[in-house]
Amino acid sequence: MIKGFSRTWRAMLPWPRPRGGTRYSACHFCDTLHEFAPLEEDMAARCTRCGAVIYQNRPASLARATAFSLAALLLMALGHVFPFLTMDAAAMRRELTLAGAATALIDENAPILGLSVILFTMVTPVVLAGGMIYVCLPLMFGRAAPGAEFTAKWMSRSEPWNMVEVFLLGVIVSLLKLAKVAEVGFGIGFWSFAGVMLCMAGAVAGIDRDELWDRLEVARS
Ligand SMILES: [Zn+2]
Repeated sequence: MIKGFSRTWRAMLPWPRPRGGTRYSACHFCDTLHEFAPLEEDMAARCTRCGAVIYQNRPASLARATAFSLAALLLMALGHVFPFLTMDAAAMRRELTLAGAATALIDENAPILGLSVILFTMVTPVVLAGGMIYVCLPLMFGRAAPGAEFTAKWMSRSEPWNMVEVFLLGVIVSLLKLAKVAEVGFGIGFWSFAGVMLCMAGAVAGIDRDELWDRLEVARS
């Protein structure tokens, strides 16, 4: 009981400070170098030259990143089970899932587009959300999962390729055009992926990269 309490308490520990000499942090916009200073929760370090946020100490960062990622994965599962869109035309009704749309593109001689949909809207979000849970959940208990640093690097690389929002925007534009010839509607799958988009934004914004790497370094040591 006491051990469990102790672990929970560790999860609430503030941003840990790795051992070592003076650290510096460069502004992401103007490259001005600043001496790294620890922050209280809910505070941000801003560049003295351009005012851009360099790093932030977000409250309950690990729990937020894990919770949003878990919600994103659950919504993704819903999005694949239920139809993405429905189309009624000439007394015929057609329901399409995201996987069905991608395979239809491949069948209709657009394999690059179909594979891009699979890669950027199905694979990348899973890598990002799954990686976030794999890295952040053990860190809540002060531990680093095997290969957590490698996973964190791939999370960072896959972030720009998560294009669920681009895809959803494309679908809305296409449906507006299709609405002239058929009655179209958004299915549960569409709203689930809209939820995925919001949850992924929340997960990525949930934890600062500097904080993540500091926590990994301290947990490893
Ligand atoms: Zn700056």
